[in-house]
Amino acid sequence: MTGAAASSPRPPTTGAGPVGPVPDDVLAPLRRPPGRALMLGHVHPDADVLGTLLALGTALEADGWRVTYGGPHPAPGALGFLPGLERYQVLTSVNGPLDVAVLTDCPNPARTEGLIDQARAAATTVVNIDHHPDNRNYGHVNWIDITAAATGEMVYRLLVELRLPVTPPIATNLFTAIHADTGSFRYSNVTPETFRIAAELVAAGAEPAAVASAIYERRAADALRWLGESLARVQVSGDGRVAWLALPAGAVPETFVEAEELVNYPRSIASVRVACLLRERGGQVKVSLRGKGDVDVQRIAARFGGGGHVNAAGCTVPGSLQDVTRDVLAAVEEALGAEPRVFEPR
Ligand code: AMP
Ligand code: MN
Ligand code: MN
Repeated sequence: MTGAAASSPRPPTTGAGPVGPVPDDVLAPLRRPPGRALMLGHVHPDADVLGTLLALGTALEADGWRVTYGGPHPAPGALGFLPGLERYQVLTSVNGPLDVAVLTDCPNPARTEGLIDQARAAATTVVNIDHHPDNRNYGHVNWIDITAAATGEMVYRLLVELRLPVTPPIATNLFTAIHADTGSFRYSNVTPETFRIAAELVAAGAEPAAVASAIYERRAADALRWLGESLARVQVSGDGRVAWLALPAGAVPETFVEAEELVNYPRSIASVRVACLLRERGGQVKVSLRGKGDVDVQRIAARFGGGGHVNAAGCTVPGSLQDVTRDVLAAVEEALGAEPRVFEPR
């Protein structure tokens, strides 16, 4: 793959925008003669991590690498349309030796449930590719670009730089990664570069209509009833700036919640500055926070041991749904600069 400029499917994206150049120390381990690689995913994998791992792994396989794909949790069924997803395994341990272990979209070791430690022991080089501002630089080599809307943008640049062909399945995986992390090209993380890369991916065979249909038009008939039951629980603060949805365990199926971005519904209210989804499961509450630029929701999530981005963050908090809802809403109120108030979750 080294120096095979003539086989490049298209010219590299030059001078295009904010995603920085790919560091040499990230390119070097992937330019070595093909060996064994692990594409390691984060907990509760989403389209950005899965699409990038499948894209990079597939490209390396075409170059002669032997690649394993997996992470601590299974891929959600809703993403079953991603080409190659059937290769993604639930891992309880890492089998070495490995030449390279690649993590994408994973800000900290805790989000691998210990697999990163095994990967570090098993792999010559751990490559950390991410766009989270709170990335802990846990790799042997680290490429963190917080201006990238998705790691999908970064991995596209990486493949171009490596002169690896972007086939239609690879383009579909990367396009879906970007589609997901930008809320279908609607969030404030979208840049001209996002559209340039998306355009190149469509030219390489990604089908926007097929991806949108796979994401938005594959609901089970029952899902609309569950959606109704969920939306009936949305509450809005007296001043209209905070809206939240607290879902008790078992209220609707977990697979339904995982397939939906339910936090987008409270977020969609005009007056809302911060939206929260709180999902109870097994004595813990998984919290998703979304902002519209008024406060840094990552800082709120960090107070509860979580993390994320300025406008999209999350945390998992032990406790009852009622207690966690009260505590998180108090922290949101504080961040918004209002007097903390006691909310009465129903
Ligand atoms: P989510 O609300 O689960 O879609 O996550 C939004 C963002 O917050 C993603 O960038 C996640 O990486 C991050 N995030 C979610 N949950 C956690 C957590 N428990 N710890 C750290 N970061 C999280
Ligand atoms: Mn992710
Ligand atoms: Mn991401």
